[in-house]
Amino acid sequence: MTFDYDLFVIGGGSGGVRAARVAAAGGARVALAEQDRYGGTCVIRGCVPKKLMVFASEYANDMKDAQAYGWTVHAGGFDWDRFHGKLTDELDRLEGVYRNLLKNSGVDSFDARARLSDAHTVTLSTGESYSAKHILIATGGRPVRPDLPGAEHGIVSDDIFHLPKLPKSILIIGGGYIACEFAGVLNGLGVEVTQYYRGAQILRGFDDEARGLVAEEMIQGGISLHLGTNILSMEKDGAGYRVKSTNGTEKVFDQVFFATGRRPNSDDLGLEDLGVELGRGGQIVVNEYSQTAVPSIYAIGDVTDRVNLTPVAIREGMAFVETVFNGNPTPVDHDLIPTAIFTQPEIGTVGLSEEDARAQEPIEVYCTSFKPMRQAFAGRVNRVMMKLVVSQETRKVLGCHIVAPGAGEMIQMAGIAVKMGATKEDFDRTCAVHPTMAEELVTMKTPVRTG
Ligand code: NDP
Repeated sequence: MTFDYDLFVIGGGSGGVRAARVAAAGGARVALAEQDRYGGTCVIRGCVPKKLMVFASEYANDMKDAQAYGWTVHAGGFDWDRFHGKLTDELDRLEGVYRNLLKNSGVDSFDARARLSDAHTVTLSTGESYSAKHILIATGGRPVRPDLPGAEHGIVSDDIFHLPKLPKSILIIGGGYIACEFAGVLNGLGVEVTQYYRGAQILRGFDDEARGLVAEEMIQGGISLHLGTNILSMEKDGAGYRVKSTNGTEKVFDQVFFATGRRPNSDDLGLEDLGVELGRGGQIVVNEYSQTAVPSIYAIGDVTDRVNLTPVAIREGMAFVETVFNGNPTPVDHDLIPTAIFTQPEIGTVGLSEEDARAQEPIEVYCTSFKPMRQAFAGRVNRVMMKLVVSQETRKVLGCHIVAPGAGEMIQMAGIAVKMGATKEDFDRTCAVHPTMAEELVTMKTPVRTG
């Protein structure tokens, strides 16, 4: 049987574009459909604009520090319009880069919504249909609002990048990556930030000591963080919104931001009719080669809800191409993925939390918390933390957790050692880089806890 294409990719985000490009570079005839903007969540409404907003927000403290270091700096306040204009231009540029990458690799791209009409056919919203030997679904996910009265008035992370002006006050609901990162960003940009999280501590699943320190630092930085608290309902009140919460209070905020998780974009793709299995959260169920229950259909990235991170989606895309087009079955390695949360301060983490490691085997914990030189000199009271969780039996570092400015950069490097199976003694025989914060990772001599 002949097909129009060897591969039809649905979704032009990081994972889909990478898979399409690499398959086409290897000689496959490839098409890709995207209903919105090329670059997907990461480039258009996630990691990239978020990180630029993190940078923008950090200047507030940088300017205070500069004054403490002897500079005459007159901060004139933050101009959202100016920043937003530049941000929009940058995203337009990046979208152009993504479109060109596809074009230059010989991928046919369609600005249309796609739906599967059978195991080898994609039908576009423009009415055209194309057959393909393989179909790759890389449609990502989207933010969800909780089901409560008035929730439709709240914004989600997609909206943050399009605000006509910054609110004076905001209530952020949630305690995950997005809630905590934007609490720091908006606080730094001068917005009065209140955050409600329903659980006992933010950033569930991360190392307890690390998330405890981040929570302290967020409060110290001016965020009004309320744990064990959730929103019950919201309604319009003048120019803002009146919010009833589980702590019995009623308060008015200019804006309410739901950072309450994301859902895979698997609806209305025609999947169930073809026998593609979906999980309870709507995620596409795949095997280690990203193959669904229908052999010609594969899925990668957030729509599969495995590890929802851009570099993971890209690796899943590469492994898919290697498996399907290069005849080299390559499972995706989801073990020991280093990651950063761009809170202020950042968390960089790889491997097991102290709690998870202890549940697995006897451990030693090496941990230090201190005031870093740069901030301490400027008179700030902020603390940082470096922690290694070590197996008593194998001496391997099972987890490394850093809370510090620049922790994302540090954990990328530490992640290599941990992925290679480095032991505590390997860390110890690495000479310190002085004076840095990260040198503490190789100079911790005595465990603070064992067992
Ligand atoms: P998360 O799943 O990380 O967090 C969702 C938060 O919302 C949790 O604190 C959750 O509470 C809370 N929540 C869920 N439902 C409700 C509800 N009905 N009422 C109140 N609170 C609720 O999702 P995010 O949206 O923050 O991020 C999605 C994913 O995107 C992340 O998991 C991550 O993979 C990725 N991401 C990565 C980033 C990075 O690498 N730096 C940055 C941003 C996103 P509870 O803990 O109790 O369930």
